[in-house]
Amino acid sequence: MSAAIVLFRRDLRLNDHAALHAAIASGLRVIPLYVHAPEEDGNWQPGGATRAWLARSLAALDQSLRKLGSRLVLRRGRTLEVVVEVAAQTDASAVYWHRLYEPAAVARDAQLKQALKAQGLIAESFPGYLLNEPWSIKTQVGDVYRVFTPYWRNAQKQITQAIPLRAPEQLSDPAVSGIALAELNLAAKPAWDQGFWEVFTPGEAGAAEALELFLDDALNHYADGRNRPDQRGTSRLSPHLHFGEISVRQLVHALGGAASPAAYARAEPYLRELGWRDFSQQLLYHYPHTADAPLNASFAEFPWASIQPAKLRAWQRGETGIPIIDAGMRELIQTGWMHNRVRMIVASLLTKNLRYPWQEGARWFWDTLVDADLANNSQGWQWSAGCGADAAPYFRIFNPVTQGERFDANGDYVRKFVPELRGLSAKTIHQPWLAGGVAGYPKPIVDLKTSREAALAAFAQFRGKGGESAAVRSE
Ligand code: FAD
Repeated sequence: MSAAIVLFRRDLRLNDHAALHAAIASGLRVIPLYVHAPEEDGNWQPGGATRAWLARSLAALDQSLRKLGSRLVLRRGRTLEVVVEVAAQTDASAVYWHRLYEPAAVARDAQLKQALKAQGLIAESFPGYLLNEPWSIKTQVGDVYRVFTPYWRNAQKQITQAIPLRAPEQLSDPAVSGIALAELNLAAKPAWDQGFWEVFTPGEAGAAEALELFLDDALNHYADGRNRPDQRGTSRLSPHLHFGEISVRQLVHALGGAASPAAYARAEPYLRELGWRDFSQQLLYHYPHTADAPLNASFAEFPWASIQPAKLRAWQRGETGIPIIDAGMRELIQTGWMHNRVRMIVASLLTKNLRYPWQEGARWFWDTLVDADLANNSQGWQWSAGCGADAAPYFRIFNPVTQGERFDANGDYVRKFVPELRGLSAKTIHQPWLAGGVAGYPKPIVDLKTSREAALAAFAQFRGKGGESAAVRSE
């Protein structure tokens, strides 16, 4: 036996890579392998923005491996079949990988581990995606947390302060063939992703750069800055974290972790967001149906409105006539990303003012976000729609005008993405109808006041029939 396979998936980095580390420690020739198997993701195969990012991230990883004397072996097919085939071709005795926690990945990896072991191979998986494993943080009576604050109180005590593993300095050639990246057909056609790369650089080096920028600039103001779409107040690490181009352990370490109470106090607002990421993953892990269906089961009976395709399309394209919504939806199409505050506002408009099912929004985000992540996206949408864990109640409806005036007070964010409104003052930019409208910019597709009243009436009717309150009682 002469080789150890490292199965790369959403851990497209060389630093702090426990699976790679184990392979190197085995003393065997290391085979870095990526198997393209989108069918194994079931209902949630990678969307367009994800595929575009993945192509660049795989290329960056390959380049880094080549600098060390190795390369990324790309293959396509069922993971188990490909791994068995590569193991036979390389005389491998071991396969190492990092764990993933989405329902389809869990099922696939359990089968993979069992089958490889049955063939006499070492098959070992490692934690490396989250602060804590999804099964490790439970209430005192062993239940899954459905409320974030007590979850975080418990979870933050268990965050490891271990020093991240160093990237290897040298590797040998894997001496086995793969296919060319172009054969995976990941590139966006037509190429609607050009604007993404003005904002993001996929790969480990791009992640490190984004982190450095955040530490230099935004971390000190993060608690307030994180709500300001008109500033670079957040880390914009979400796609890098999704693809594992940087690990959460590297982030904890870079932030100073528990070095001192003062360092922890400075880092905590940011670590808390990583806590929300873990919280979402543990919810999806324990409630695997929540990618498609509400956690609060009674919401399956909610009286959603029937979808008017023109209105849905106006929301998707950023042509609703409501400035902060249009800025957010256009930011998404142009850059593949949208600020968290604006995600909440656009989700509220879709699920409350328009009363369209949250799954419609989740699907659109899935295809267009470079950070599209099954756990964060479905929990983010369910939080916004009021049917998820620790969710904003349905009756809390964001007013996009006041949200815009509060979090984009000068209107700079709107001006950046909605050029038609550039000439308006801070006073009218969030409600151009007060200025008599603007030529070339649509009138609002929905009346904010009456649609709010209609949403509240639908919710009252739903509650009257035993919706929501029954589900809350059953928690
Ligand atoms: P920062 O503020 O710098 O936060 C650091 C990291 O913490 C993020 O990179 C992310 O990994 C995590 N994080 C931050 N906020 C949240 C949150 N509310 N829930 C879970 N994790 C969080 N995030 C995704 O990564 N993928 C998605 O598909 C996704 N869909 C969303 C859909 C809706 C409707 C909503 C309301 C939120 C969604 N989020 C999603 C969460 C959040 O909007 C993004 O993680 C955040 O905007 C990423 O920007 P950032 O890296 O600058 O965040």
